[in-house]
Amino acid sequence: MIRIEDYIPIVGQATVEELGLLADRLRGKAIQNINSTAVGGGVAEILSRMIPLLSQLGVSAAWDVIKGDEKFFEVTKKFHNGLHGVPVEIDAGEYAHFLEVNRYNAEQIRFGDVVFVHDPQPIALVEKRGAIGKNWLWRCHIDFSQPDPKIWEFLRQFIPRYDAAVFSAPAFSQKLPIPQVLIAPSIDPLSDKNKELDEATIDAVFARFGIDRSRPVVTQISRFDYLKDPVGVIKAYKLAKERVDMQLVVAGGGATDDPEGPIIMEEVRREAEKDKDIFVLFLPPASDIEINALQRGSTVILQKSLKEGFGLTVSEALWKGKPTIAGAVGGIPLQIAHKYSGILTHSIEGTAQWIKQLISAPEYARKLGINGKEHIRNNFLITRHIKDYLLLFLSLFHEGDVVYL
Ligand code: UDP
Repeated sequence: MIRIEDYIPIVGQATVEELGLLADRLRGKAIQNINSTAVGGGVAEILSRMIPLLSQLGVSAAWDVIKGDEKFFEVTKKFHNGLHGVPVEIDAGEYAHFLEVNRYNAEQIRFGDVVFVHDPQPIALVEKRGAIGKNWLWRCHIDFSQPDPKIWEFLRQFIPRYDAAVFSAPAFSQKLPIPQVLIAPSIDPLSDKNKELDEATIDAVFARFGIDRSRPVVTQISRFDYLKDPVGVIKAYKLAKERVDMQLVVAGGGATDDPEGPIIMEEVRREAEKDKDIFVLFLPPASDIEINALQRGSTVILQKSLKEGFGLTVSEALWKGKPTIAGAVGGIPLQIAHKYSGILTHSIEGTAQWIKQLISAPEYARKLGINGKEHIRNNFLITRHIKDYLLLFLSLFHEGDVVYL
């Protein structure tokens, strides 16, 4: 089991001690996280790492996942797409079903002292507040810069009932009648997905998938989702391949709250057909060592998102010192300073151009990776994230005025 002290060599003793001091002040308070999937996607990734560490610090932290049927997750995926600016139609029956599922879950859940609700899927649980009180926080992980007005109007009605809203990046903040807090997500450097691996383990994973480590490998790891643009990744690879030899890995799995995965994976498979140098890999849940090895063994990592809340995969790649090319969207520019800690792109052609350049200039690529790793160490590791959350929770119990950043 990982202990909180194990982070001292990575972030320093003072940081870890501070977490202990803050956690002590929360003793006796139950912090309850609620989201919509136990596996797949960044929110589940963060909660699965955060809850055990909070518990170790002596904070009573729990994590509940709401239950929904297929129709519910189809509606919430439409919310997700619509909030990211994709045109969607949602009818009155679908909104009603969304509320019904939230109300059903509100009856099943035993609420803690702080109810920390993640993303839109469980947002309407707050209707219960009138009956039970408690402190309520809404944590939005998605890119909220241009939400579909109708969906936003629907979701907005729940927000004033929360005590505060948490967003990942300044660009996502909205005009709201409650305080807004900016807290960026994080990765855990000691998880199976991010810890150091020996070369033999990396070799074994590449051999299992039939990928040749002696030739350049370009990789994107993501849920199969239009907004991650896996088809655009293949197009960029094909353009770059006209100039430089390489293999492409497009790897990912699904999430229980994302019904679109299999359709998109089929599209990607069709686009990749007949090219033996493209590896479209389906990764089942708990493929953390495989993901870690694929990232560590790659020459260049892509995250060619068209919209992105934060993009944990970017931090994961940079933490491994990998030259990373990513779409200049959502929270990605927080992680990459263009041409310093990675490369930001806006098109298939631009991505292709930079793939070619980074493969051809390994020394420059290496420097980007080194800078990227330090940027992640200073800003996007789980210890910083825990501190931000502890301060936020404490602010709810603070008597008098609180200054939100
Ligand atoms: N991930 C995974 N398996 C997959 C695809 C992604 O474990 O098949 C992980 C990935 O390593 C990262 C998270 O899921 O930790 C995705 O978070 P991100 O913020 O990049 O995107 P999201 O899926 O939340 O939109």
